[in-house]
Amino acid sequence: MLGTAMEVDARTLDATGLDADVCVVGAGPAGLILAGELAARGRRIVVLESGGRNPDPAVQALSEGTTTGDAYAGPGATRHRQAGGTVGAWNTWVEDEVGAKYVPLDPIDFEARAWWPLSGWPFGRPELDPYYERAQALCGLGRGGYRAEDSATSDRPRLELSPGPLTTGVYHFGASRLFTETHLGEIRRSPNVLLCVNATTVDLEPAPGAPSIKHVRAASVTGRTLRVRAKLFVLAAGGIENARLLLLANHLHGLADASGMVGRCFMEHPRDVSYRLVPADPRMFDRCGLYDFHHGADGVVMGRLTFTEEARRRDQLAAMSITLLPLPRPLRWRPAESLRRRVLGARRRHGHTWSRLSSKPRRFAAFELLINLEQIPDPDNRITLGRDRDRFDLPRAAIHWCWRPRDQRNLARIHAIVAQECERHGLGRVEVAAAGPPDPNAHHHMGTTRMHEDPRRGVVDEHARVHGIANLFVAGSSVFPTGGFANPTLTIVALAVRLAEHLDTQL
Ligand SMILES: Cc1cc2nc3c(=O)[nH]c(=O)nc-3n(C[C@H](O)[C@H](O)[C@H](O)COP(=O)(O)OP(=O)(O)OC[C@H]3O[C@@H](n4cnc5c(N)ncnc54)[C@H](O)[C@@H]3O)c2cc1C
Repeated sequence: MLGTAMEVDARTLDATGLDADVCVVGAGPAGLILAGELAARGRRIVVLESGGRNPDPAVQALSEGTTTGDAYAGPGATRHRQAGGTVGAWNTWVEDEVGAKYVPLDPIDFEARAWWPLSGWPFGRPELDPYYERAQALCGLGRGGYRAEDSATSDRPRLELSPGPLTTGVYHFGASRLFTETHLGEIRRSPNVLLCVNATTVDLEPAPGAPSIKHVRAASVTGRTLRVRAKLFVLAAGGIENARLLLLANHLHGLADASGMVGRCFMEHPRDVSYRLVPADPRMFDRCGLYDFHHGADGVVMGRLTFTEEARRRDQLAAMSITLLPLPRPLRWRPAESLRRRVLGARRRHGHTWSRLSSKPRRFAAFELLINLEQIPDPDNRITLGRDRDRFDLPRAAIHWCWRPRDQRNLARIHAIVAQECERHGLGRVEVAAAGPPDPNAHHHMGTTRMHEDPRRGVVDEHARVHGIANLFVAGSSVFPTGGFANPTLTIVALAVRLAEHLDTQL
């Protein structure tokens, strides 16, 4: 069937069996990039995607699950089932289109740190550097760097915080159409890829007597089923569904969870907004343009505050990143509801472009400190198979997630250091805006199939192969052993490029 560019729909497909070199489950960023890179090397790929060309409530309902522990939005609300993946739910406005925020993990995030539980990737950041470079291009970003010196100019200088533990870093922004149009389009046009939409993988069937997968079975909501036979299989179904599929394989066939680690160490990037900075000099609002969305030499960027790696190592600090969001002075009049909605809507749509406004010292009173946080991998924060079942009669994901006292202690240290440093460098006074727990809903699902060379401590090895299964691999943020603070998609794409290179050698 391969050899002509094709997309098929499992709801109407007559064939009941397909063959490929590699079968990829999921057509989000991880699956699309992996399939594209392998197809470019001449490999024959079948991509099974649960969603279709358009959103479909019956398919989206397959992501539903339950949550316990602290309040958490849950999988249905934070994952999107459609060709292109969760990119279809992105909500950051980059100029006039929807996109995302990108930043790589820092070198220290890969290191084993005695003071950070379960830390240490099987490789260091230099291993990923060439793949980050390729990921940068695949995500539609310029070649620019992520340090202040790469973006600060005399018009948009960085805040003077040296010497000290705080420094300035940079986010890059890219459009979602790179995935939903460019990469998806390339997959659809590639003669080496068969994209099968509305095909939900429901079972990983083992080869008799061998620790490997023989078939993947997929089903459509119209009741048709399909088997894909391949030399290699890759789960790229997102941070919750990757774990769920492995838990199901364990439940049905006793496969894939020798360590008991599948589903454990589920991590998020909670966001804290409980502190604000009241500038000592209101002219600071005019000098902080670097920390707003703007066109840099190399695309759309935004400055942020973070810890130096030296301070993180020395003072044993969690990763974090602070976005400065100016808070308007209280209004003296109450706008009509329709006007209020228009103003709020414009603010949401144009997000952070506040530095273009005039009279900023008169408009703004303080900066909200939006802190993106690293969470400790905790085996008790986990995905399991719940009691409820989906329309294929498979147990739904049950998420247990808590922001634990040690996470809160890390946050308290961050608050204390930020307050002390802002005051010491004369930026202003840091005060409590609204005390409360951080919001966990960054929608970054990490850690549930963690990478570790030792099968007792991880689910996949350093090449993302599931321990104990010869031909099953995992792509996506579920393999992250620790997650830093960084939005995960750039790293997901870099790892997918690396995995494609490895699978090509395996074939
Ligand atoms: C509102 C929102 C904003 C975000 N903003 C950012 C951001 O600014 N920066 C950033 O880095 N990240 C952001 N993210 C996170 C980002 O979307 C994910 O990191 C990324 O989509 C993960 O890619 P993936 O391919 O691993 O998974 P997904 O994109 O979730 O794709 C998985 C695919 O697998 C399919 N699938 C699931 N189960 C099955 C099955 N059983 N069989 C077949 N197919 C299946 C799904 O339909 C889906 O298409 C955001 C997420 C949300 C929800």
